[in-house]
Amino acid sequence: MTEPARAGSNPTWLDARAVRDGDDYVITGHKWFTSAADGAAFAIVMAVTDPTAPPHQRASQIIVPTDTPGYTLVRNIKVMGDAGEGYPTHAEVRFEACRVPVQFRIGEEGAGFALAQERLGPGRIHHCMRWIGICERALDLTCRHAATRELSPGVLLGSKQSVQHMIADSRAEIDAARLLVLDTARQIGERGAKAARTSVSTIKFFTAGVLQRVLDRAIQVHGALGMTDDTPLAYWFRHERAARIYDGADEVHKSVVARHILRGYGAHVSNDGA
Ligand SMILES: Cc1cc2nc3c(=O)[nH]c(=O)nc-3n(C[C@H](O)[C@H](O)[C@H](O)COP(=O)(O)OP(=O)(O)OC[C@H]3O[C@@H](n4cnc5c(N)ncnc54)[C@H](O)[C@@H]3O)c2cc1C
Repeated sequence: MTEPARAGSNPTWLDARAVRDGDDYVITGHKWFTSAADGAAFAIVMAVTDPTAPPHQRASQIIVPTDTPGYTLVRNIKVMGDAGEGYPTHAEVRFEACRVPVQFRIGEEGAGFALAQERLGPGRIHHCMRWIGICERALDLTCRHAATRELSPGVLLGSKQSVQHMIADSRAEIDAARLLVLDTARQIGERGAKAARTSVSTIKFFTAGVLQRVLDRAIQVHGALGMTDDTPLAYWFRHERAARIYDGADEVHKSVVARHILRGYGAHVSNDGA
């Protein structure tokens, strides 16, 4: 979906085009941050199939086998210094007159945005669950370190009030995130992802923020050790900073939540503040 030349936060505004030619689509586009592209047998591209349709019905999702002529994986983008390889990669890719059969379209023509929303709700709660798992491990490492590291003979790091407060703050924030995520999962189970949209936005930005703070405290308590790759903390800190950006930046989700609240006060404000 995401393109370097257009704001990824606005998925209705895409440059990539899929033009119908007989029983084929001819796809032209430039994408980046295509996760797991390296080694993939196919890509799913979101491209405009009808530029005259209403914004949310302009694009379709189309499968493009990666051996299709015109498809190029330009590079695995270095994210926080690490390009990776295979599944945990984020690639820049080009589609230059890629021709695929119309049957490779997923769902109806123009349903690309609706399909993306369908996937992103459950995808976001999955990220939150994964982040809570990382938080629990980071807090566990923090506590182990605080309970064993001596600042001077017989004086444990964990005896310092500032360290104790960091542990307590992390515990409280993780518990709060976990309860919000569980409640959102209940809502999805009972009413479906669409009805739980505002709660999904709440947990997306809230849990991503908790993750950043818990990891930051964990590194602080570990001192220089926290900056090394002798623990997983630095890896998480580098790789999970993106949590506040992908699948909707914090600001976008906060606006979804606030607009929903303001509707209860009779104010119907749109995304651009109109
Ligand atoms: C590690 C990683 C993996 C990714 N994987 C994928 C993938 O597999 N497929 C894919 O399609 N994309 C993927 N993305 C891209 C991701 O979805 C986009 O980065 C995201 O949607 C933001 O778009 P952008 O980067 O173009 O930022 P922009 O849209 O240019 O926004 C820049 C910043 O502006 C602010 N902003 C934007 N909109 C608003 C608003 N309405 N109100 C207030 N502030 C706002 C936010 O702070 C935002 O971070 C990935 C990104 C990362 C970092």
